[in-house]
Amino acid sequence: MKLDNLTPIEWKFSERAEQLQSSMIREILKITQRPEVISFAGGLPSPETFPVERMRAAFDKVLSTSGKSALQYGPTDGYAPLREFIANSLSTNGAKISPDQVLMVSGSQQGLDLLGKVLLDEGSKALVETPSYLGALQAFSVYRPEFVSVEMDEHGLLPSAVAAKGEGARLLYSLPNFQNPTGLTLSTERRIELVETCARMRIPLLEDDPYGALCYRGEPLPKMLNMNPDGVIYMGSFSKVLTPGIRLGYVVAPHKLIRKLEQAKQAADLHTAQLTQMVVYEVIKDGFLDEHIPTIRTFYSGQCDIMLDALSKHFPAGVTWTKPDGGMFIWVKLPQHIDSMALSTEAIAQNVAFVPGVPFYAGVPETNTLRLSFVTVSPERIYEGIEKLGKLIASKLSK
Ligand code: PMP
Repeated sequence: MKLDNLTPIEWKFSERAEQLQSSMIREILKITQRPEVISFAGGLPSPETFPVERMRAAFDKVLSTSGKSALQYGPTDGYAPLREFIANSLSTNGAKISPDQVLMVSGSQQGLDLLGKVLLDEGSKALVETPSYLGALQAFSVYRPEFVSVEMDEHGLLPSAVAAKGEGARLLYSLPNFQNPTGLTLSTERRIELVETCARMRIPLLEDDPYGALCYRGEPLPKMLNMNPDGVIYMGSFSKVLTPGIRLGYVVAPHKLIRKLEQAKQAADLHTAQLTQMVVYEVIKDGFLDEHIPTIRTFYSGQCDIMLDALSKHFPAGVTWTKPDGGMFIWVKLPQHIDSMALSTEAIAQNVAFVPGVPFYAGVPETNTLRLSFVTVSPERIYEGIEKLGKLIASKLSK
């Protein structure tokens, strides 16, 4: 029975909620659902690489052999065999990671939120790269830190800038491999210097590494986690090496922090789905990733080369872009006077989408930057979309 004539609620949101905003990328993605739009905007992995059959077989196997435990509540820290597998695979270069240091999370995005929750108070100093992953800025900003933007160059974050600005920081958020959004990689020398600087200044260093396995050129560089397992927090994800829809990632951290994160996770969602953890373990336990990841690398590196070729053919002089050694993104710098936000509106009207650079900055943004993703668009459409974009940019130069 529905009651009539009740006073409507006037929603009063918390101050925290009042300042929440939708991510610009998610807004652009809504527009780009239209099939005629050539979208370089999404950060989605290519579904061509999803091992659907393998997942189906693993779901079948887990449900038929261990259905009852897979469908039951599970421990907050995660499915023990999977945590052990992850700890072993990260125990390289002489470092020993214990399964007790691994917390399974519902996508590494949840790891960012939990870290914000346990490390940041209102006004705490949080160091971030310039630019940085928009989703991390969004996750941390709920806890209202004081963001401090740390400069980068073509070899990644500048440790000297961390030393200059980092006094008293509660966190340094870094993306050493094929950074989202720039595609840049932090050099080995810089990694060593950064780990030393953070240890000296007692700054917890967060190494977010969802793209590390997607290395197209050269050898993967050493993880900062292995350089200092007592001071570095590492985050990994199955989104880019298996599928993002399963929402599975992990945080690796020293014991004291991992127990605190576990308490925060308990309050947030009790635990990550048992079923998906058991299925992922079933899929990867016998070395599947060793054969699967190279196929993703080959596919993505081909896509990357096509976009780089299209850019060099169709983008006018005065525009520069990064040449990533892995990952999913290319970062473009337009001549200073071109505002990529305004350009985005015009490009969408011509059915081409990208993400303007502005939302990736915690501090003063560079309005002439933009991010292109090359993994989900077919080669013909990459050429077509980049040509259109090139013409649009050229039309701004002649004005
Ligand atoms: N970190 C970075 C740098 C990302 O690009 C993403 C996803 N785009 C995430 C974390 C979150 O990944 P997930 O939650 O799917 O593991």
